Amino acid sequence: MENTYKDFGSLVFTEVEMEERLPRPVYDSWKATEANEEQLDRQTADAIAHAMKRWAMEHGATHFTHWFQPLTGGTAEKHDAFIEPGANGQPISRFSGKMLIKGEPDASSFPSGGLRATFEARGYTYWDVTSPVFIKDNVLCIPTVFVSYNGEALDRKEPLLKSLQVLSKAATRVVNLLGDKEVKSCDISVGLEQEYFLIDLKYFQRRLDLKLCGRTLFGTPSTKRQELDDHYFGAIPPRVQAFMKEINEELWKLGIYAKTEHNEVAPGQFELAPIFSKGNIAVDQNQLTMDILRKTAKKYGFACLLHEKPFEGINGSGKHNNYSIITDNGQNLFDPGKKPAENIRFLTFISAFIRAVDEYPVLLRLSASCCGNDHRLGADEAPPAIISIYLGSYIEDILYSIYTNQKIKTSKEENTEFNPVSGLSYIPHDNADRNRTSPVAFTGNKFEFRMLGSSMSASFTNTVLNTIMAESLNDIADQLEGIKYLADIREKALDICRQLIHEHKRIIFSGDGYSKEWEKEAARRGLPNVSSYIEATEILKDPKVIHLFTSNGVYSEKELHANRLIMAEQYDRMMDIEVRTLIEMGRKDVLPAMSAEFDFYAEAASKAKKCPKFFETRMDQLSELIDNTYSATEKMTTLWKEANETGDDFECGKKIYYTVVPAMLELRKYIDRYEQIASRNFYKLPLYEEMLFDFD
Ligand code: ADP
Ligand code: MG
Repeated sequence: MENTYKDFGSLVFTEVEMEERLPRPVYDSWKATEANEEQLDRQTADAIAHAMKRWAMEHGATHFTHWFQPLTGGTAEKHDAFIEPGANGQPISRFSGKMLIKGEPDASSFPSGGLRATFEARGYTYWDVTSPVFIKDNVLCIPTVFVSYNGEALDRKEPLLKSLQVLSKAATRVVNLLGDKEVKSCDISVGLEQEYFLIDLKYFQRRLDLKLCGRTLFGTPSTKRQELDDHYFGAIPPRVQAFMKEINEELWKLGIYAKTEHNEVAPGQFELAPIFSKGNIAVDQNQLTMDILRKTAKKYGFACLLHEKPFEGINGSGKHNNYSIITDNGQNLFDPGKKPAENIRFLTFISAFIRAVDEYPVLLRLSASCCGNDHRLGADEAPPAIISIYLGSYIEDILYSIYTNQKIKTSKEENTEFNPVSGLSYIPHDNADRNRTSPVAFTGNKFEFRMLGSSMSASFTNTVLNTIMAESLNDIADQLEGIKYLADIREKALDICRQLIHEHKRIIFSGDGYSKEWEKEAARRGLPNVSSYIEATEILKDPKVIHLFTSNGVYSEKELHANRLIMAEQYDRMMDIEVRTLIEMGRKDVLPAMSAEFDFYAEAASKAKKCPKFFETRMDQLSELIDNTYSATEKMTTLWKEANETGDDFECGKKIYYTVVPAMLELRKYIDRYEQIASRNFYKLPLYEEMLFDFD
């Protein structure tokens, strides 16, 4: 039994490993740095670097890299070997404290949104001591932040780290004010459920759209989709099982607690969820997980698709971000406890969260958005673009009774518990029932944010959650400060909760988030419904949002501006690739197939004594489809060119969204129609029914 986990964390320079290998004062000094109490001095850094190198080389590493996360959303690394010429002509290995702490990858081609003009193009990486160092493919990877010469963030990790400190201070303030003086700091726990598709590599390789865009740009949903729900939680096919086994082993070696795996709702779709960890580490580990999923899939003859909507007509993929706030002595501040109605601290944190989300819904929506997620939000089984919170009737009842000043139900026992299996004396009880249609749901002792795209880094989402939550908490703390007696403070806190519920109850919704009625109801409540990613980027210009980030020191105005530019630029570029791929596939795969098929019937008809009706119908259909496909391509190309004539990336993006995207859908309609009647002799591209159901 114990052998199963013997390699757990073997590729991580863990705290245990550090304690083992470092002299005590050096280890203590590192701990203090990690807790943000001390700056690392040169000697300590040298000692750590030396021990790290020894450990890495013992585990087969030959190189090291500063592993960073540029604004593209992926990860980046530039490897350097430990090797150096020694005094006697023999190679030696070297890794100094300086090399550990600071790097200067040129990396000037990454987007910077104007933060790096060429004359000051330097970008620096700095060791993030709060995320453990690990080995990947013989390379010692050091998690780092990436900043410009002037100290501006060129990644989304630096701001995440800042937001964690801001949240820690604010949450600690409130906890201390409410009577618990022991708590010195807080952190967040994040559990990221990762959804993905697997398809056989042989199909992937034959589809340019999957290779270049990560999604199918056309294709008719197969005859069998997900209506039978027979894939969801079904038996995992053996090849997938073998793949998952290796994934688990690899992740365990990297100290990642891969825990849950199952088939998802759509055919070919799966999910992997690790056990939650500290926010910053969870974000890093998710990046690694995506990397390993992609790589390992190839070994098993699969392509792993992390795109939010690889296939039309079936579910897309998300990354559920489970979020809670934990004190340094392990208390979960979203834990309702046995008597939530009497738990003022719980009620305060829940109310703060409700306020935070209602104050910044569009920002939160943006933090979960990317080009691919535009196809998912509001489509099959995906949260709509409207932000609302689902609390579950139990918590909702409590908040309602506070709000209306009625007698509060004081104990969970008052809720009927049922025992589905006789003979079990203990049934773990959930405080919240499930509503899968809500973008933000309270699930027992955490909030689950379900909007995030499957391909995205979870950095920005958590940066936003931390910062908006910190603002709410600080606002509450300001009102509590100065009150002398604890009983009065608690009374006041309850008052504040009442006020917050009153002001923000419009964001609470427990009905069907997928329904058309909700869209209307949300509009009536004044909740924003920004349908596109590109339009959501505008929120970074909003003075309220600028103030939120700048006053908390998480982003400067210049950085926000740069991020907005990069988002628009990335959107335009991705759409460029999609349009060009569509043109290319139309020219190389679709139109020639249509024409050859037409030719086939024309020739057959010319030979026949009496032309069969079927031939005539097909020729008519094909001739019409060829015309339509051709003219729809022309139309799309013209609109795309027009959009690109707009100098501004944002305006261009908006034009793409409102004119080019519908033109792409129009073109898709004709290609899909052709697919439905096409003969395999002519149309060679892999079909949905092949890609989604072939796991042998
Ligand atoms: P479901 O699919 O029902 O949402 P899962 O068990 O698949 O549930 O995933 C739940 C995720 O939430 C896991 O990653 C889990 O570790 C994480 N999680 C559980 N408790 C907390 C918590 N207090 N804070 C943050 N994440 C948590
Ligand atoms: Mg979930």
